Amino acid sequence: MIPAQFDYQAPATLDEAVALLANDPDGAKVLAGGHSLIPAMKLRLAQPQLLVDIARIKSLAYIREEGDQILIGATTTHYQLESSERLKQICPLLPECARSIGDVQVRNKGTIGGSLAHFDPAGDWPAAVLALDGELVLVGPNGERTVKAENFFVNLLTTDLQPGEILREIRIKKPSGRFGQAYQKVPHPASGFAVVGIAVNLTLDGNGACQSAGIGVTGVGVKAYRAKSVESALAGTTLDDNTVATAVMHVCDGIDPNADLYASSDYRCHLAQVHTRRAIQAAKARVQ
Ligand SMILES: Cc1cc2nc3c(=O)[nH]c(=O)nc-3n(C[C@H](O)[C@H](O)[C@H](O)COP(=O)(O)OP(=O)(O)OC[C@H]3O[C@@H](n4cnc5c(N)ncnc54)[C@H](O)[C@@H]3O)c2cc1C
Repeated sequence: MIPAQFDYQAPATLDEAVALLANDPDGAKVLAGGHSLIPAMKLRLAQPQLLVDIARIKSLAYIREEGDQILIGATTTHYQLESSERLKQICPLLPECARSIGDVQVRNKGTIGGSLAHFDPAGDWPAAVLALDGELVLVGPNGERTVKAENFFVNLLTTDLQPGEILREIRIKKPSGRFGQAYQKVPHPASGFAVVGIAVNLTLDGNGACQSAGIGVTGVGVKAYRAKSVESALAGTTLDDNTVATAVMHVCDGIDPNADLYASSDYRCHLAQVHTRRAIQAAKARVQ
């Protein structure tokens, strides 16, 4: 339970952090909240030679609005997102998701960027960012690039981040018109991680028909995903009970649901169906 020896640097700026990583892209690792990386180091699953601590770069923690977008700095903590009064008004899925994470200590230190970069199969943020069709801004030695969330999440604990790159910002289009959102989660009783987590972002037209549905699912497969068959089964409908009940049966389409001591594959898929229905109904009830 003691990490292997490593060096530590706390750069004052993002440019310095990128330069430090560029010196040793394979041996150096970014440290943010440390709530996934430090346990992995203690178990010797990760043995970086250098930790580049970005949590001390003040300019990387923010929640801002720019035009029709919400911009979130990568080291913004779960607690900062949970407690943002502005987000509760303009994109309540984000604080609702943040509130469901771990316990107060985890939320005070853990960051949204760390969670997205780590991409735990039971992490909560990937589901919310997928449902909101977010974009991620990555910066590295070759400059900056923007990646859609769907393309960022590659596989179990694997993202599109290349050696030496840092996730700098998360961009979410501000929900507009008649929208409703909800996050439903079955937390693991010990860790709080999602056995199943379902994020829903609905937009209705003036007649109450579903214009668009974003549904992000975590905990079910080896990686978080968008439940596209459910999304398309809802589009254009009035989200009546029968339509929703039929649509949610597709939430595990194309997925081989995880099985562990806590939930078998069939039970996990059943939980996903039930909680997708509940999340859609909760989001619909919140449409303004
Ligand atoms: C007891 C406990 C309970 C938890 N419960 C939950 C839960 O219910 N739901 C949930 O979603 N999570 C949970 N977590 C995980 C928690 O949310 C972590 O904070 C999160 O997964 C990682 O964020 P971090 O800022 O701590 O990242 P770190 O641990 O510092 O880093 C994680 C990984 O991401 C990389 N990284 C970090 N930031 C960046 C960046 N900006 N750019 C590039 N790479 C980066 C690091 O190099 C490392 O590989 C729990 C953790 C603990 C210890």
